[in-house]
Amino acid sequence: MDNWLLYILVVIAIGIGWWLRGRERIKQAETLGPNYYNGVNYLLNEEPDRAVAAFIEELEVNQETLETHLALGGLLRRRGELEKAVIVHENILAHARLEKEDMLNVKLELARDYLLAGLLDRAEELSITLSSEKGETLRESRKITLEVYEMEKEWQQAAEVAQLLAVGDDTEKYEKAISHYYCEIATDHLGDGDYDKARESISKAIGHDANNARATLIHGKIDIAEGRYEDAINTLKRIRDQEPVYVPESLDSLVEVYEKADLPTDDFCEYLESCLEITPSISIVLTLATVKREQIGDEAMAKFIANHLKRNPTIRGLTQLIDLHVDNTSGVAKQNLTILRSFAEALVADKPAYRCHACGFELKKMAWHCPSCRDWATVKPIFGLEGE
Ligand SMILES: [Zn+2]
Repeated sequence: MDNWLLYILVVIAIGIGWWLRGRERIKQAETLGPNYYNGVNYLLNEEPDRAVAAFIEELEVNQETLETHLALGGLLRRRGELEKAVIVHENILAHARLEKEDMLNVKLELARDYLLAGLLDRAEELSITLSSEKGETLRESRKITLEVYEMEKEWQQAAEVAQLLAVGDDTEKYEKAISHYYCEIATDHLGDGDYDKARESISKAIGHDANNARATLIHGKIDIAEGRYEDAINTLKRIRDQEPVYVPESLDSLVEVYEKADLPTDDFCEYLESCLEITPSISIVLTLATVKREQIGDEAMAKFIANHLKRNPTIRGLTQLIDLHVDNTSGVAKQNLTILRSFAEALVADKPAYRCHACGFELKKMAWHCPSCRDWATVKPIFGLEGE
């Protein structure tokens, strides 16, 4: 679709160039520049690079033709032809005497090209220059600068720019993002073993979004790292009331802390059961079954999983159930169960386990920052037969 649009746009644009000049001439047929024929020829030969060059040469940039140039630049960017989009936008800036507002818009477009093309230094420089402007230009330039800092993982700088954007209707959106920037910073400090700084950052994350389950998860991990096991348990259990869909993300830490603290697991089981009432997640079922295994034995554990599967069938649950039976079977039955298991495993092997609720992008691993729409905490586990 975009291909046709590009072709039509270039042909029309070259035509407009010819017409604009033709208005001042009598014999229009004789005024068709060689670039017009060349441009069309390049398009027919599928040489879009040369067609774009012919277009730029043929159609002078001025107030009248600006929209056409911008449309071509925008179209090239949507098609992912970023280098050509940069050429079109740079050409406008180099050759046009435009009104100030139009000039600023073209610069914003160019900064977006740079950003998408991964030319982060240029995108940062241009967007920071534009942030000396006012109104919409200022706001749009800040958004570009913010994206640059996110891509460069300059979280502190990102937090500062996002704070300037967190006004009016956008307050909640940017406050949530700032909370995640501090989660990123806290995770780095935790990795470096600097627990004081990690705590400081996580307090800021909570300050910007008190219901950020990820902040709670990291908080719990800091508690574990510092040997504050009971605190860790109390912290991690808050996720159920914040965003129960993220409870599966905290299960490894909870199992770890109960083991390290050597605490009785009764209240852990109680907590997991209460989570299951809210979120019928197979990860929670399997953790609960594993924790209970010692007390209740394999048979009761298999029964427990099977009961859950009747209500919420999942392939992951089925493979776990097969594993439990394989151990207690022999001969042909064991062989058949093993084959069944490999079938079940193959069914989910390449299936995504997470989906972004904002843009629909699917992932195999959990990500707090959607790689597609770049929103925060929109990726959640997929529930159903092939997922949780
Ligand atoms: Zn997304």
